[in-house]
Amino acid sequence: MNFLQNVDNMVAKAASHLPMADGLFEKIRVCNSVYKVCFGVRLRGAIHTFTGYRAVHSEHIEPVKGGIRYSPDVNMQEVEALAALMSYKCALTEIPFGGSKGGICLNPKDWEPYELERITRRFTYELSKRGLISPSMNVPAPDMGTGEREMAWMADEYGRLHPSDINKRACVTGKPVICGGIAGRLEATGRGVQYALRYFFRYPDDVRAYGMSGDLQGKRISVQGLGNVGYHAALFLSEEDGALITTVCEREGYLHASDGLDVRKVKQYREEQGTLDGFPGAKFHDKPLLGLEIECDILIPAAIEGVINRENAAKLNCQIIIEAANGPITYAADKTLQNRGVCIIPDLYANAGGVTVSYFEWTRNLGQMKLGRLQKRQDVQKAESLIDQLEHNGLKVLDEYRNLATRGADEIDLVRSGLDETMRSAYDRMRDCKNSNPDITDLRTAAYYLALQSISESYLTLGL
Ligand code: GLU
Repeated sequence: MNFLQNVDNMVAKAASHLPMADGLFEKIRVCNSVYKVCFGVRLRGAIHTFTGYRAVHSEHIEPVKGGIRYSPDVNMQEVEALAALMSYKCALTEIPFGGSKGGICLNPKDWEPYELERITRRFTYELSKRGLISPSMNVPAPDMGTGEREMAWMADEYGRLHPSDINKRACVTGKPVICGGIAGRLEATGRGVQYALRYFFRYPDDVRAYGMSGDLQGKRISVQGLGNVGYHAALFLSEEDGALITTVCEREGYLHASDGLDVRKVKQYREEQGTLDGFPGAKFHDKPLLGLEIECDILIPAAIEGVINRENAAKLNCQIIIEAANGPITYAADKTLQNRGVCIIPDLYANAGGVTVSYFEWTRNLGQMKLGRLQKRQDVQKAESLIDQLEHNGLKVLDEYRNLATRGADEIDLVRSGLDETMRSAYDRMRDCKNSNPDITDLRTAAYYLALQSISESYLTLGL
């Protein structure tokens, strides 16, 4: 079963619990359009042909939204599956976007930065010609193999093509802050994983149902993939919540240390040495996928789709899997793990931090103003006068509280607050859906159910 079939099966399972108008599910399930382009770029004295894609899954709300992936494995069914996940993810988290996804079939390591820039600019031109990049219709973002740098190139190229568009900076998200990006977007997906886990542990009943107790302090965590998402999730969970990152899996193998790894140092070591092998104070094994089977409390797959499949699902040794990547668990593995009583916090929800903060960036670009600029000073003045009043009436306010209350919210504080709220409310909706519907026994089905419910409502209202 390929990635797209896996996603289709998962969504069909949820659809079987939801009464829907005849034929509507099929209309929602299919990807509305996929554009494939083969374009040539003159590099190193020759013309190189690259294949790029942009899939639009559902335009029930525009713009459609989703990342651009650079990987040798990019193909049509993959971008279709990822675009579908974007529609469901946005619907579940109440982000007003339809779903899209794109990519170029290339290995970014094969090209110099100035070559990648030319490829990216050319791809942007191809997308722009067809309305597949536009602040009002289709807004790309980073994904695997792309980041702030590529988004800056795309935004700049779009700006050159549409100089009079006042909203041109909103044509992509995930830009560097200096180019109209927003504070906190870079680490947003990892931050969302942290907030999702923190919130899960605030429900003792849910925690107990999966044979666990307490909070994140001391929990053993395995992370697969130390890219942007996996690194930030592991960093925040270890440095801010006291969790132990006991295993880290990467392409060349995995590292294990039962008393926890220093995530910053591991990342720095790998960047310098090009491998995890030899990292001091930890055991290295050269079979990366076996790292997933090492005993832990929480497993975070944060790389690519399909890594947990029928081959290894029965061998995993964890109580919770939180899908920081898109589609890391196949349909078959999902069944096996549910039967084994493993809690799966699904991708639709768990990795929605990225698109959530992209939404904040997009609205910030349209509003042409940094978040918090208008109200910060007023909030500070209100808090100061309240504290002055309290002290005037004989109440001593501790310095700690005074400082907190009179600090005012910066953009990063507002972004974190909005992300936390999004993660909490989406979890509550999934939880309520699961607890109030006896046929729905897992969070993934609840997540798809809610997403389908919302999309079908849009379709029926619009009369599509
Ligand atoms: N590529 C990310 C995802 O899969 C982010 C998409 C976005 O910000 O639009 O969710």
